[in-house]
Amino acid sequence: MIHALVQASYILATVLFIFALHWMNTPATARKGVYAGVAAMVVAIAVTWAQPTVVHHLWIVIAMIAGFAVGIPLAQVPLTAVPQRTALSHAFGGLAAGLVGTAKYYLWFSEGPEHLTAFRMVAIIIEIILGFLTFTGSLMAAGKLQEVKWVPQRPVTYPGQNAVNLVLFAVAIGLGAALTLHPTAVWAPTLFPAVIGLALLFGVLLIIPIGGADMPTVIAILNGYAGLAAVAMGFVLDNKLLITAGALDGSSGLILAIIMCKAMNRSFTNVLFGAFGQVQKATETGEQKSYKAETIEGAGQVLEQANLVVIIPGYGMAVAQAQHKVRELYDQLKKRGVTVKFAIHPVAGRMPGHMNVLLAEADIPYTDLVEMDEINTDMPQCDVALVVGANDVVNPAARSDKSSPIFGMPIIDADKARTVFAIKRSKNPGFAGIDNELYFGDRTWMLFGDAKGVIGELVKQLSAGSGH
Ligand code: NDP
Repeated sequence: MIHALVQASYILATVLFIFALHWMNTPATARKGVYAGVAAMVVAIAVTWAQPTVVHHLWIVIAMIAGFAVGIPLAQVPLTAVPQRTALSHAFGGLAAGLVGTAKYYLWFSEGPEHLTAFRMVAIIIEIILGFLTFTGSLMAAGKLQEVKWVPQRPVTYPGQNAVNLVLFAVAIGLGAALTLHPTAVWAPTLFPAVIGLALLFGVLLIIPIGGADMPTVIAILNGYAGLAAVAMGFVLDNKLLITAGALDGSSGLILAIIMCKAMNRSFTNVLFGAFGQVQKATETGEQKSYKAETIEGAGQVLEQANLVVIIPGYGMAVAQAQHKVRELYDQLKKRGVTVKFAIHPVAGRMPGHMNVLLAEADIPYTDLVEMDEINTDMPQCDVALVVGANDVVNPAARSDKSSPIFGMPIIDADKARTVFAIKRSKNPGFAGIDNELYFGDRTWMLFGDAKGVIGELVKQLSAGSGH
């Protein structure tokens, strides 16, 4: 009876997890999706905890307090830090899987050889290799994104790096295979930590050659690994909910990674082994290009007279928290009969959907948010492209410069607009660390300053104008 109740609750939790993912598809139902996910997790924890096999309740309470102590501050990070926050969650997931696998191995080892079946050993080995490599890999990724001092931001590469990594991984798998074949040999408990060590090292080595713009994709891949480690943990613990939830987590991570690879026109192997984001060789030899700056008044006048204005938001809009001012500008322009669209690049900002979230927060209608492919067909007819703290996602080098690290990444064709106004604070590059020809273009004028401040000034200018 209890068994049936537990299984029924697990099915309920699985259904809620699936709906959570489904509702997350559009901003209109995303909130419902979050509630469904929370409800599923509460059901999963409560039902598992209520099982009679659980005897050490105090440990569970301690673990929960520790979880809350870490989770609550993590939930309060600003949106711009969400990628590294997500990486930290994967690190914890990987560590949990790795530790459970380790504990189970030693427990079963002490209980007798019949427990360590080949099936369980395969699951344990997969669990610890994926779990521990996800742990260190995710910590490295979080450190890189957070720009922690002792974690190198730029890719660290050396000759034969991929070969070294693959050999290391092969050795870990080989030792894992030996353990699977002889799980109770006298040397087995001593060899087990070696596999853990290799997995931990592999996680670090896998991430150090990856830099810059590939980190979000890598985080999605690590999400996939964490999910697969949870599936293996489900097999080890014989828990069906862990298997299904892990599979949902793992597959959604991998699907997200594929979508992001497509958005950047990269292959999986190129992301993992291509050392993208390398510091660019100094090719610009002395040649000084100059920017043209525009005044708020001048930009305001051009905006007012436009038929179609395309606003291209990027990471800078998030940093400046300029979305509400952008909304005011949108209202001012709409009042004048100007058509205003927002061009959304899939990797603008620092996480998938970053721009959508910010613009939704400012109540900008979803219908005016246009995906990259669709808006690009309109760009030649666009009177003003207003770039708000975007850089890499509007860099024409991605289309034309084969030597550029972002070559091949689809971009929003801001440079095809009749006039481009670009708002940023300085001449500094964006995430990929490279210059942007767009800013030197004949039809581009810079509006230097903090995005919130500059847009606020533009709004003032327009609202003063509308008073006449
Ligand atoms: P970028 O990082 O390329 O450029 C952002 C620009 O915003 C900078 O050039 C910066 O210039 C400017 N900026 C920063 N703060 C402000 C401010 N307060 N006011 C005005 N401008 C500001 O951003 P994009 O959105 O164009 O591109 C995203 C990049 O991040 C891509 O390379 C992508 O691959 C990568 N990435 C994407 C993730 C995702 O999932 N979306 C996750 C992680 C990375 P200045 O300093 O001069 O002001």
